[in-house]
Amino acid sequence: MALLEADVALPVVREVVKRIKESSVGLEISKNLTPGQEFIKIVQFELEVLMGESNAELDLTSQPPAVILMAGLQGVGKTTSVGKLGKMLKERHKKKVLVVSVDVYRPAAIKQLEMLATEVGIDFFSSSVDQNPIDIANAALAHGKLKFYDVVIVDTAGRLHVDATMMDEIRHIHAAINPTETLFVVDAMTGQDAANTAKAFNDVLPLTGVILTKVDGDARGGAALSVRYLTGKPIKFLGVGEKIGALEPFYPDRIASRILGMGDVLSLIEDLERNVNKDKSEQLAKKFKEKKSFDLQDYHNQLQQMKNMGGIIGMLEKLPSLSNLSNDVKNQVNDKLIVQVEAIINSMTPKERIRPDLLKVSRKKRIAAGSGTQVQDINRLLKQFNQMQKIMKKMQKGGMKNMIRNMKNMVDSGGKMFPR
Ligand code: GDP
Ligand code: MG
Repeated sequence: MALLEADVALPVVREVVKRIKESSVGLEISKNLTPGQEFIKIVQFELEVLMGESNAELDLTSQPPAVILMAGLQGVGKTTSVGKLGKMLKERHKKKVLVVSVDVYRPAAIKQLEMLATEVGIDFFSSSVDQNPIDIANAALAHGKLKFYDVVIVDTAGRLHVDATMMDEIRHIHAAINPTETLFVVDAMTGQDAANTAKAFNDVLPLTGVILTKVDGDARGGAALSVRYLTGKPIKFLGVGEKIGALEPFYPDRIASRILGMGDVLSLIEDLERNVNKDKSEQLAKKFKEKKSFDLQDYHNQLQQMKNMGGIIGMLEKLPSLSNLSNDVKNQVNDKLIVQVEAIINSMTPKERIRPDLLKVSRKKRIAAGSGTQVQDINRLLKQFNQMQKIMKKMQKGGMKNMIRNMKNMVDSGGKMFPR
């Protein structure tokens, strides 16, 4: 059901279910996991395998210029992706990039590419609607060779639906320029349709990879699985927004989590239920209802519970949208921090724990000395505590169930728990 809801094409769903069944039936459950956790691990693993285990990079090793041909239906984001790719190749890979449009059906399309190229600061080979697409492509390539470009990206015209004329044209362009990379661009929001189009293009063109666009929308990423399975070609990039910088390398594990919707949230919930001291969390909930506040003593209790659950990192890694946090962020919230925070709170008087606003410089100095920390550590703690208070206010209304629901909401809304 999760796969269908995520818009994975039916034949692909069948195949995935079959594989999951084969790997799960009769499997011995390890002592540390519940059957549910074990199962989710298998599901995640099979999805990752189907999508290709690691990130596939662009092949630019050919004799320069390396030629990249973009193919796909109209409106999927080909032209935008040319601009994004050009920017990335220029800035991150230090390549000299030339772009050209052979979309002679819509004058605006050529202009659009020219504007993008200008914005990004890469070179644009001009073309016009009275020219033949193959002539344009050949001329651009010749120019690319002459002027020692590293990469030439060819943007093409799409139609609203797969039709024979378009397929013929792109096939001829492909034959004429013999690209190193033929990238099929597909809109993640089109779900089931994406699968059919992918198949049609794959049948006429030797695709080398896929760019999945508009992953920033509501799509849950099912198209990634379908396209990958039906074409057998790796997804190389994700388009994650309209802005020119919004292109990311594709990582199967992230999309697998997204397709599952909640990633490891299910197992996180099980952890919560097993390890969180129910009495204490109910007390906490009750306290909220009564005095609608959350003090440092409560914070202290919460940290204690987090420690019982394998630490902050262990928790964060189970949330799909947080599992790809950079190491920087992780280091900021590492478990040493819990220990330090505990030491600081332990050095406070009960009154100070309830009223952190009392903490002026002299008290802070005393606490720092008592806990073996610096005043700035205390300031950082107070800042984090303030943020925590805000989160807790939002969770005011209930106990564990609400807290879990809130976590789910946070995850669903993109998991902006730690804005960067
Ligand atoms: P083309 O017809 O395939 O060349 O498509 P365009 O590049 O002209 O893009 C069509 C529309 O999709 C434009 O409004 C783009 O801004 C938008 N678009 C392209 N890629 C993305 C993406 O990754 N995310 C979002 N939200 N919009 C995108
Ligand atoms: Mg276009």
